[in-house]
Formats: sequence, C-alpha cells, structure tokens
Amino acid sequence: MKILEVSNLKKYYHTPTEEILALDNISFDVNEGEFISIVGPSGCGKSTILSILSNLIDKSSGEITINNKSIAYMLQSDSLLPFLTILDNCLIGLKVTKKLTEENKNYVINLLNTYGLGDFLYKYPSSLSGGMRQRVALIRTLAVKPDILLLDEATSALDYQSSLIISEDIYNILKKENKTLIMVTHDISLAISMSDRVIVLSKRPSVVKNIYEINLNNKSTPINNRKDKEFSKYYEMIWRDLDVHI
Ligand code: ADP
Repeated sequence: MKILEVSNLKKYYHTPTEEILALDNISFDVNEGEFISIVGPSGCGKSTILSILSNLIDKSSGEITINNKSIAYMLQSDSLLPFLTILDNCLIGLKVTKKLTEENKNYVINLLNTYGLGDFLYKYPSSLSGGMRQRVALIRTLAVKPDILLLDEATSALDYQSSLIISEDIYNILKKENKTLIMVTHDISLAISMSDRVIVLSKRPSVVKNIYEINLNNKSTPINNRKDKEFSKYYEMIWRDLDVHI
C-alpha cells in the first residue's frame, strides 16, 4: 500500500544575491514497510528532501501526500543530551509534544529493554559505545511511534566497521517494528544493502535520474546483502548514474 507520494517537488533557496534551484520536479512514492534510499552527489538536495518531508522547511511547489501516517526525523547519536539519562533522552520527544503518558513511558522502557539497553536506563550517554548511542538515538525516534522514519546518513563520521554494524542494527530494529524507512546517503553500498528501492538523483538542480528496485538473489540483512552476487551489478549501474569525476 502506498503511504507517501511526492509529485513534482521543487525547492528554491534564496540568498541575498541569488536564487538557487535545489530540487527540480522530484517525484517518487513509498509503500508501507518499504526501505527507500535516496543517493546523489554532495549538494544535490538529499537533505532538503528530508527537511521538507519533516516540515522543517517549506517546499516551493509540488505535492506531498501522506495517507494518515506520521513521520519522524531520526537525529544522529551525537545529538543525545549528555546531562540527561538514556531514558530521559528517549522521552524528550514525548515531553515536547505533551504525550508523556505512563503508557508511552512504558512503551519506551520496553523498547530499551528489548534492544539491550535495559541496564542503562539511568546511565548517561557518555557511558555508552558509539553503536549503543546510535541505538538510543533510534529508540528516541521510535518513542513517538512514527510510521515513517527519515534518516540522514550524510553526517555520520563513523569508521567503516562500526557503520556496517550500526546499519545492520538499525535495519533489524526497524524491520521488527514494522517501520517504513527513507534514508539519504552518498554511500552507494549502504543504499543497496539497506533498501528495497534506491532513488538516484542528478546533481543540482536535482531530478530523479533512476529508481532501482533491488532484487538480490538472497535478500537478507545489510551485511549479508553486500555479499550477494547481484550486488556489484547495482553498484555499477548507480555509480555510472552518478557520473563521479575525480
Ligand atoms: P545534500 O544533502 O544532497 O548534500 P542539501 O540538501 O544539503 O544537499 O543542499 C542542496 C543545495 O541547496 C546545496 O547546493 C546547498 O548549497 C543549497 N542549500 C541548502 N540549504 C541552503 C540554504 N539555507 N540557503 C541557500 N542554499 C542552500
């Protein structure tokens, strides 16, 4: 079932001296439970799409249809507040939206218990590893029970192995919780390994260059998907689309 539809989305930014067309007629849709990645060259407008979807900024024109579903933007682990406990960090979204009921609090405590953080409820972020902090950031986002999660990988400055393990972790938790994911990244391998479909954007002003359905032989979790024989075929097609010059 289609739960999000973006049609002819346009975004201009205005600076004192110029008008910048960042997005030019972007259209795509998202089905319930689907994991979508948006890839494109740096500065093409990937984060702009997520900011518009989460209502942080206005679109210039176009249509966004969300069928009664809620969207939450997942902030990175480095946005955890160091002076709040893990539990209080995860309750922040509920507090600011005035939805901190006993039931919702128990829902969050349950998530923390289920995903291995039960011993850390009253500890502070500094006592956690990078991977655990990322998991807390994810649970903080899940606390408000969104249907669709937006994830911006662009800023994550993790080493390769940690980022593999974290993407595996995020993938497993979101699948288990039946969420829909829209992720933006410049990392082609990450996009293929995590997604049902990959949307490739051109450089600015960005248009949708291609949309690939990722049909691996043995579709599994991200780390295993990277070993699939079909993986490199998608990598090469997307690499060619991005037309990267060094
Ligand atoms: P990406 O996430 O793909 O790297 P962004 O969405 O961050 O790209 O930005 C797209 C383009 O819009 C960039 O070229 C950037 O310079 C421009 N841009 C982003 N934010 C602003 C802004 N507030 N004012 C002017 N230009 C902006």
